[in-house]
Amino acid sequence: MPPTFKNLIGGDWFAPSTGRYLENRNPADTSDLIGRFPDSGSPDVERAVKAAAKAFERWRLVPAPARGDLLKRLGDLLAANKESLADSMTREMGKVLAETRGDVQEGIDTAYYAASEGRRLFGHTVPSELRAKWAMSWRRPIGVCGLITPFNFPLAIPTWKMFPALACGNTVVLKPSEDVPHTSHRLVELALEAGFPPGVINLVHGRGEVAGKALVEHPEVRVLSFTGSTETGSAIGEIAGRSHKRLSLEMGGKNALIVLDDADLDLALDGVLWGAFGTTGQRCTATSRLLLHRKIHDKFVTRLADRAGQLKLGDGRRAGVEVGPLIHEAARDKVERYVEIGKKAGAKLISGGKRPRGASAAKGWFFEPTIFAGVKAGDRLEQEEIFGPVLSVVRIESLDEAIRVNNGVRYGLSSSLYTRDVQAAFRAMQDLDNGITYINAPTIGAEAHLPFGGVKQTGNGHREGGWQVYEFYSETKVGYVDYSGRLQKAQIDNYVRLET
Ligand code: NAD
Repeated sequence: MPPTFKNLIGGDWFAPSTGRYLENRNPADTSDLIGRFPDSGSPDVERAVKAAAKAFERWRLVPAPARGDLLKRLGDLLAANKESLADSMTREMGKVLAETRGDVQEGIDTAYYAASEGRRLFGHTVPSELRAKWAMSWRRPIGVCGLITPFNFPLAIPTWKMFPALACGNTVVLKPSEDVPHTSHRLVELALEAGFPPGVINLVHGRGEVAGKALVEHPEVRVLSFTGSTETGSAIGEIAGRSHKRLSLEMGGKNALIVLDDADLDLALDGVLWGAFGTTGQRCTATSRLLLHRKIHDKFVTRLADRAGQLKLGDGRRAGVEVGPLIHEAARDKVERYVEIGKKAGAKLISGGKRPRGASAAKGWFFEPTIFAGVKAGDRLEQEEIFGPVLSVVRIESLDEAIRVNNGVRYGLSSSLYTRDVQAAFRAMQDLDNGITYINAPTIGAEAHLPFGGVKQTGNGHREGGWQVYEFYSETKVGYVDYSGRLQKAQIDNYVRLET
């Protein structure tokens, strides 16, 4: 009998008020039922937000270094449980074990960074305009943060949001993707073991349109951080705008990898395969467009199709497997729709384009790594996020054209250029309109201590990771201490500045 899970609210486990549950199945073998998770309603969210608001009153007063110590302990627990977390994450999400290990490692790195930030959280002390007066700024926690996360990084993305929020002294309600609830369950179990007080971390499972929406709309939620599709982000942004909530949006991508004619083609080939088909193409930073210089185009395409055809599909928990399944049936249906769209537009299918054959492949949501050549800038294949193992190849004449094509989409997350020309590399870093540009590396692969995010319809100006995210989760307050013993008028008493 598969287990039935509960929500974590105020330090206790509660069944959903609705009495309903959602099944969580292994996408590589849909007969494998991992468990039943709450299909929560707004009363569950209400209860969680109330618990978080109550816990905030005490948590905000815990010294930041002590909050950091708890995050360090949680990082240690993640490290101690890395292998089993990776295994259960591959079981519910599908990507291969090497990748889920990396997902856990990202959480560990984020925990240690956040722990050390507990001893920084810098403000400024600056000279005052007036005599005998101190002027300074410092960071204050904001309140209850609502965190809404996608399926593709089941551990890393919740930690990117939760750990900085907690280090800054906020309390959180996490609504993880309904496709990967088990990883969040395990994360909060470890947080309890680490010793976080009741109500500081709350977990409410459920569907986006119900539990997610209730969290977004709740008046006591002061901060919202969302990662997911641009469509969902727009809906959340409208509500958050009306209610004046602080909001961070990390959304879709349509990332291009450019190969110039002077590039190391072996290196570029490895990079394209990893960027396009790692995580089965289900990364916001996935390489979904390949812009090839005309001089190397034909040769590169031939080698690419050959290598893509050799990638080993299967259950990500099996040794040697390189590409796992898609997350669910709807995701595979979407990929199939785009394959038809590509064919109708006259693009040339040079690899994949169908479900793999065989009994084990039929058990899950598998699809062959797919490559279209002859795609034109402006085609739907080239413009729209597919979020699956589909790569579109566009022939380009020059770096100028590549930059124009790269910038000609509504998204702006990451980009990549393969070249040996240092001038081209720096020109690209300047002109590619993205949040991240890689030189001689594929479009995927963030580091925990650098800001992560995109421009245009990928984001709304905030960043995850690095030092910048701490600004998002804290409010700057300014304090002045006048010890002159007389009334000094800032903005008026200009003369006192020059008095001797
Ligand atoms: P999604 O938008 O379908 O869901 C994301 C989360 O939002 C889920 O928890 C879902 O339940 C919730 N949600 C859905 N509707 C909601 C609503 N009306 N109100 C509140 N919450 C709601 O995205 P997904 O399919 O889980 O993830 C794939 C998408 O995420 C892709 O577009 C990908 O590019 C993007 N993504 C972006 C980044 C980034 O950092 N830019 C990282 C990973 C994934």
